[in-house]
Amino acid sequence: MTGAARVVVIGGGQAGLAAGYRLRRAGLDFVILDAQAQPGGAWIHGWDSLRLFSPAQHSSLPGWPMPPYPGPGYPTAEHVVEYLAAYEKRYELPVRRGETVTAVSRDGDRFQVSTDTGNWFAEAVISATGTWWRRFLPLMPGGFTGRQLHTVDYRGPGEFAGQDVVVVGGGNSGAQIAADLAGTANLTWVTRRPPRYLPDHIDGKALFDVATRRRQALQTGKPDTAGVAGLGDIVAVPPVREARDAGLLRPREMFARFDSDGPVWTDGTRRHADAIIWCTGFRPALSHLAPLRLRTTRGRIPTEGTRAVAEPRLHLLGYGDWTGPASATLIGVGMTARAAVTDIQTTLDTGGG
Ligand SMILES: Cc1cc2nc3c(=O)[nH]c(=O)nc-3n(C[C@H](O)[C@H](O)[C@H](O)COP(=O)(O)OP(=O)(O)OC[C@H]3O[C@@H](n4cnc5c(N)ncnc54)[C@H](O)[C@@H]3O)c2cc1C
Repeated sequence: MTGAARVVVIGGGQAGLAAGYRLRRAGLDFVILDAQAQPGGAWIHGWDSLRLFSPAQHSSLPGWPMPPYPGPGYPTAEHVVEYLAAYEKRYELPVRRGETVTAVSRDGDRFQVSTDTGNWFAEAVISATGTWWRRFLPLMPGGFTGRQLHTVDYRGPGEFAGQDVVVVGGGNSGAQIAADLAGTANLTWVTRRPPRYLPDHIDGKALFDVATRRRQALQTGKPDTAGVAGLGDIVAVPPVREARDAGLLRPREMFARFDSDGPVWTDGTRRHADAIIWCTGFRPALSHLAPLRLRTTRGRIPTEGTRAVAEPRLHLLGYGDWTGPASATLIGVGMTARAAVTDIQTTLDTGGG
């Protein structure tokens, strides 16, 4: 399929949909291209017990609040997927599914967006491809012969019953997966530094408020409040809190290498492992932008707000705080989507960029 639109949005997860909502309101002609056959972005792929770290009313995209979750606790990933599917329908967002963008390149003063089914041409591009698709695993010397997985491969504790499992990572995924396994597997939880729990009352809404205060402080020349990172790394969602308070989450420092049987620590201690689960994070999925030859710093393209510094008609949405405060969260992406679309509209109206 070959087509043209003023703006092409790459990725139809929450960030792409928030951009679509804003583009629709701005009256700009656009299309959203998404590699997956179904709506929901990365939320389709989380583990079975994955839940939001905030209530529904604090997990909304612009325009339409997430409906209340009918069950106990915070909403499930399934609830988020249903919301995203309904959101897309409600605003009649033009999402073309099953279309993977392979390359974005310059074609005179417009972009050529190449997909596995054809080409699109656009005056501006919003890249909103997320991070789930680019797992990060640190290099570890030694030849472990057991099973190794990443967060993206983990579904639930059942298959690990009675096994010796090492979970690596002191962030939210590591803590949640460790808590999920604690009663079922023989768990060793390994973190690079002692886990830093956020105060128990802090949820996603409070995190967003902290991120917003930081942005305001920086914008008005006030001292850096250190934002969320100053508070801790792990949101103490109920299952994590319960496992921690029951003494089931006892972290150990990072090991130094593997032998064939499992990890080996610097003091020489060893641990048999049937499986290692690396909860060591993600990197932005940006390979489709390679033909633009933009300089990257540690996998990130330098931006001013969401706009790529070296390519002003290219915007990056989601991914992390470097594209806007809390841009990779449901509640936060609306604000950065609005800023991106306002910037695009001004650029297209004035013929800038
Ligand atoms: C374990 C975990 C728990 C989290 N919990 C919360 C939480 O409680 N609350 C919260 O607000 N946030 C949470 N987040 C963060 C955040 O909401 C998610 O990471 C979110 O999925 C990011 O949305 P996105 O639209 O940027 O990316 P994604 O959801 O990854 O969507 C990107 C879309 O782009 C498509 N795509 C990718 N590459 C291409 C390509 N080349 N061509 C075409 N399409 C492409 C993908 O198919 C996908 O549909 C959590 C994240 C993780 C990992």
